[in-house]
Amino acid sequence: MTMARDSKVAFTHLDKVYYPDAAFTKGDMMHYYQSVGPTMLPHLAKRPVTVIRYPDGVAGGFFFEKRCPEKRPAFMKTVSVTSERYGTIAFCAVDNLPSLLWLANRAAIEFHTYLFRGARETAPTMMVFDLDPGAPATIADCVEIALIIRGLLRELGLECFAKTSGGKGLHLGVPVQGTTFAATKAFARGIATTLERREPLRVTASMAKAARAGRVFFDWSQNDHGKTTACAYTLRARRTPTVSTPVAWDELELALRRKRCTSLSFTAAEVLARVARLGDLFAPALTLRQRLPAVRGQAVATSHRRGPHASP
Ligand code: ATP
Ligand code: MN
Repeated sequence: MTMARDSKVAFTHLDKVYYPDAAFTKGDMMHYYQSVGPTMLPHLAKRPVTVIRYPDGVAGGFFFEKRCPEKRPAFMKTVSVTSERYGTIAFCAVDNLPSLLWLANRAAIEFHTYLFRGARETAPTMMVFDLDPGAPATIADCVEIALIIRGLLRELGLECFAKTSGGKGLHLGVPVQGTTFAATKAFARGIATTLERREPLRVTASMAKAARAGRVFFDWSQNDHGKTTACAYTLRARRTPTVSTPVAWDELELALRRKRCTSLSFTAAEVLARVARLGDLFAPALTLRQRLPAVRGQAVATSHRRGPHASP
């Protein structure tokens, strides 16, 4: 089946089931991206994007695609990035709805973006704190830690914004300008180790798998020019069509207070309803202008008061 739902992109195979457990078809996915597109596009714009393609849906095989296909429509722009590991790659730059839909129609279920725009790979526009719950820890533990982080950052004069990953955990975005990845990584590491010292039973800043069980792993290392993060509003290829969903701080506080953090998992349909009701809760992550305080990561870690059980 082929249907031209957009003037520039033909949609194909719309009946194909992409999420068998949810009876969610490719047509449902195209409808989601078409509807959420205007809200999602600013978060994709000008950034190199990596897509993960699932030609047979989430139950089938998948592959990462960094290089923008050679045979691409004229409306698809690219941004070239040179790295030691991969050489020069022309990534798709998804700056308009047809580009988003063209990729989605190629079975790109997931969209992951870099933390810089254009080819300015030395200039992060956002610092990211990736909070991963190590079972039996859950998203509720991530929410608790996220609220502590928000307080810590506020003391340093910084605002941050939260979204679910659409998987197990939470992502915090701290908009920044005039900085480098070396600085954001050191700063994130400083916050992570501060928290680890204050909450040793609940947080780990260490990659070691053993340390993660029952704790929230604060992955500060994502602040790197070579790392991507799931874009706000991307579908995730999990069992059900969950979305990386921006959430408000009072919503997180309320969910925690009512012990209802399991409700912090949103499907495509729920996200469209939220966007209609709430607009884009992640918009300030793009527009707020703030600078990292002039302290090194370690200085952040040591200048902050320590808990009673902190090691010297
Ligand atoms: P969860 O909440 O379940 O951890 P997540 O999206 O945060 O979901 P992570 O494994 O914590 O997943 O990874 C963080 C980010 O790093 C991802 O959003 C993705 O953009 C990127 N990433 C993870 N694994 C890979 C991989 N194998 N190749 C490329 N990028 C990856
Ligand atoms: Mn994560």
